[in-house]
Amino acid sequence: MKTETITRELMLINGKWTEAAGKEFFQIENPAKRGTVIAEVPRATAEDVDNAVQAANEAFDSWRKVPARERGRMLWKIADAVDAQFEELARTIATETGNALKTQAKGEAKGVVDVIRYFGGVAGELKGETLPVDNQLFAYTQREPYGVIGGIIPWNAPVQLAALKIAPALAAGNTIVLKAAEDAPLGVLKLAKICADILPPGVVNILTGFGEECGLPLAKHPLVRKLTFTGSTQTGKIIMHEAAERIIPISLELGGKSPQIVYPDADSEKVIDNVMSAMRFARQGQSCSAGSRLYLHKSIYDSFVEKLIAKAKLLQVGDPLDENNDMGSIINEKQYNKVCSYIEEGINHPDIELLLGGLPPAEGPLSEGYFLEPTIFAAPHDDLRLAKEEIFGPVLIVIPWDDEEEVIKMANRSDYGLAAFIWTKDTTRAMRTANLLEAGWVQINRGGGMMTGHSYGGYKQSGIGREYSLESMIESFTQTKSIMIDFDE
Ligand code: ADP
Repeated sequence: MKTETITRELMLINGKWTEAAGKEFFQIENPAKRGTVIAEVPRATAEDVDNAVQAANEAFDSWRKVPARERGRMLWKIADAVDAQFEELARTIATETGNALKTQAKGEAKGVVDVIRYFGGVAGELKGETLPVDNQLFAYTQREPYGVIGGIIPWNAPVQLAALKIAPALAAGNTIVLKAAEDAPLGVLKLAKICADILPPGVVNILTGFGEECGLPLAKHPLVRKLTFTGSTQTGKIIMHEAAERIIPISLELGGKSPQIVYPDADSEKVIDNVMSAMRFARQGQSCSAGSRLYLHKSIYDSFVEKLIAKAKLLQVGDPLDENNDMGSIINEKQYNKVCSYIEEGINHPDIELLLGGLPPAEGPLSEGYFLEPTIFAAPHDDLRLAKEEIFGPVLIVIPWDDEEEVIKMANRSDYGLAAFIWTKDTTRAMRTANLLEAGWVQINRGGGMMTGHSYGGYKQSGIGREYSLESMIESFTQTKSIMIDFDE
């Protein structure tokens, strides 16, 4: 591999910057410049996991006793410090993930600040209940932290997802050991530096390493009292088995193949912009909530598709750090090859027509990184791998419909159930459809991202539990203790 300026980063265990016990490092590649190493990080294994979990366990006793609003104030300090470094953090995210600075990385860095501030603000809302009984008996509940949380995150929005685990876990009085994704640990380590300056040692521990070598021992560690995982459905099942072994609670935020339903009255430029945003083209489609199945009403099919292609052609693909570009690169070679194989399958399938994009050029600037152009296919039905499986690339499939009941059935005919999008001016119809869709998050005439404070999570194999909100913090990061006092002496 070519090496530019390689920095050697360390992990955070018990407030100290440390190498892996095995002294090994692994390299982080810049996905926009194939074969170029940007940093090395420690290759953590079970021994490092144990050190980190022991540290988090020791820190828990004092951390849980810090008044909740004081914990919240510390989170605010972290948010302020992230805000002060937001440009630099955004550049790190863009460099390691390939996500464009303009459309994605800056928004992610701002989102990190927002999420941490939000959970800092609601830290004091961990309220219990009292029960009406009689004069001699008093019964109440209180919400208590679990202890050490084990968190595992992917690479697609690495720092945002780290913040979504760390902030609510800490606000609720837990400590955490978080494993960053092997492809994108650098932004998470920047967040770790800020946490280390503000929090007592051991409260937040960040490990860098691979899934089986580091993630699995974390999921198996007997002192981890709760697991929270974001990633593929396949890995989620492995983690869930580990949780079952020790009967510990688990939150899972997994894959998706989200439908977008366009009604006849929604054939407009504005809807097309939003449909492209819902498809997450600007993130190369690497989002679990990407609306990658587009069900278009037959009456507007031709006109909508024509406009959609014209607009998608305008998306500039290239160097994620160049703010003229809307789309950056795919995260790594493996993922790039996987997306290319789906595109190839679409091109060769007799029922599928390629409308835009396709396989990437073998020469020229785009071949220097894992770049793919927005790719749009059309098919007369959705009984196809391309319409069923999560591709995690900029690949949209368009399917016609003419009967509402039928399109809702098609939208629900999926093992996934994360997001869904409805496009129509008729709000009554939209709300009726929203009620019938099997998805944890339905947007009507909106294709943007999640809103902090609004619960987010999946139905079916898209996950268990919710994130982003006060309710989710209480459900995911606290347990209820019921206490009764008898006054009769
Ligand atoms: P992706 O294929 O998008 O990388 P994964 O679900 O494989 O998605 O990865 C998400 C996170 O899960 C990463 O941090 C990865 O290291 C971790 N991981 C992968 N396999 C395992 C495993 N067997 N046990 C624990 N963690 C794992």
